[in-house]
Amino acid sequence: DEVRRLADTLNLMLERLESAALRQRRFVSDASHELKTPLATMRPMIEVAESDPDFSDWPGLLTDLKREDERIESLVADLLTLARFDEGAVAGVQEDVDLDQVLGRVAERTAHLVPDMTVEVLGIEPARVRGDAPALERLFWNLSLNAARYGTTRIELSCRALPNGVAEVRVSDDGPGIAPSDRERVFERFVRLDEARGRHEGGTGLGLAVARAIARSHGGDVRVGESSAGALFEVELPLAR
Ligand code: ADP
Repeated sequence: DEVRRLADTLNLMLERLESAALRQRRFVSDASHELKTPLATMRPMIEVAESDPDFSDWPGLLTDLKREDERIESLVADLLTLARFDEGAVAGVQEDVDLDQVLGRVAERTAHLVPDMTVEVLGIEPARVRGDAPALERLFWNLSLNAARYGTTRIELSCRALPNGVAEVRVSDDGPGIAPSDRERVFERFVRLDEARGRHEGGTGLGLAVARAIARSHGGDVRVGESSAGALFEVELPLAR
C-alpha cells in the first residue's frame, strides 16, 4: 500500500511537471512572437527612409520608431513582472499598504489619462493589507487602464473592508463588458478578445495576467464579476492583522 501511494504521488508530480514545462514552452514561444512583431517593423521603416534620397519625414519616422520602442518596453516590463510574481511566488517586499490611498492615486492618474471620461471614486473605506506597494498599484492601474480603454464615459472605483478579514476592490466601466464565457479566458497570457483593437491601441494582452499574478502572490485573487452593463472587476486581498 505504501509503495502504491508513493507511485501515485510520483505520477501526479510528473504530470504536474510535464504540464508546467508545456506551459513554459508555450509562454516563451508566445512572448517571442509578440516581441518579434514590433522589432520586425522597425527595420523596414529605417530601410525605406535610408533608400529614398528624397525622404524628409524624419519627425514622422521618429514618432513611429518611438511607438514601437514603447511597445517593446511595456511588453518586457510585463514579462518581467510575470516572471517575478509567477504562480505561487510570495511577494518580495512586505509593508503595510493602504489600498484606499493607492486607489486614490490610480484614480488621479486615470483621470489625467482620459480627461473626457468621468472617473468616480465611490465608498472608499480604509483597508490596509501587507504586501508590495508598487506591485499592488500596478494591479489596480492595469484594471483602471482597461476601464479607460474599453469604457465609454464612466469609470468607478471602490474599496471596502469586509468583516471576514478581506479587502474588496471593484473597478467598473460602462463599455461593452465581457461575455460570461470569456470571463476566465481574459486572464490568460496574450488573450485579447478584440485582436485588432487591442494591438492597435498598444495593449500587450498581459495586463490581466499580470494583475492576477500579483493578486494571487498576495494571497488574494481577481475575477470578472456580474454586472448589468459594462465590465466589473473584483479584487480580494487579505486585510493586514
Ligand atoms: P490588453 O493589453 O489587450 O488590454 P489585458 O490582459 O489587459 O490585455 O486584457 C485582455 C483582454 O480582455 C482585452 O484585450 C480585452 O479584450 C478584454 N478586456 C479587458 N478589460 C476589459 C474591459 N474593462 N472591458 C471589456 N473588455 C476588457
